[in-house]
Amino acid sequence: MTQVLVLASNNPGKLKEFGELLAPIGFDVRPQGQFDVPEAEEPHITFVENALAKARHASRLTGLPALADDSGICANALGGEPGVRSARYAGEPKSDARNNEKLVADLATQVDKSAYYYCALVFVRHADDPQPVIAEGRWDGEVRAVASGQGGFGYDPHFWLPALGKSAAELSAAEKNRLSHRGQALRLLVEKLK
Ligand code: IMP
Repeated sequence: MTQVLVLASNNPGKLKEFGELLAPIGFDVRPQGQFDVPEAEEPHITFVENALAKARHASRLTGLPALADDSGICANALGGEPGVRSARYAGEPKSDARNNEKLVADLATQVDKSAYYYCALVFVRHADDPQPVIAEGRWDGEVRAVASGQGGFGYDPHFWLPALGKSAAELSAAEKNRLSHRGQALRLLVEKLK
């Protein structure tokens, strides 16, 4: 039997990635926009709390199980910044170009350019689920001042993978899924849900 699962996002890329891995274990993943769920607030200082807030919000408004993710890039020399503020690091309105410019500028005087993408995924069976299922993923790389590649989104053109000699924006979608913070978290979540 198939169980409808609401995804607390309207991002078509995430819908495709999550839908493909969750369909084989019986979930029909639908974006929250299909149920007129507005975006939830993300006021918390941890990724997992924000993902939980988004999942609860979607589940409460639909009466369905829900899945949410929260992710960002964390630079070690900046004490983990931009972190949960990644989407709006350079302020409103949110802009990938200005975010990247600010991150590169903030790291310009730092020797340590290492950074990692982090993703928290949270699944709730219902809005008040006392035992949310949580999975995390982390993807290590470096922030490079020079941008390269046309793929991906966000910080990908500046997220350099020394072992591959490429930026995240130079990877195919399949390669990125195999390596990325979100791909890792999703595969762990699927194992937990099985
Ligand atoms: P969200 O969790 O989808 O809201 O992502 C938060 C922000 O983190 C995005 O707006 C991007 O700036 C950044 N981010 C998260 N994952 C990625 C990624 O895979 N590539 C590039 N940027 C990312």
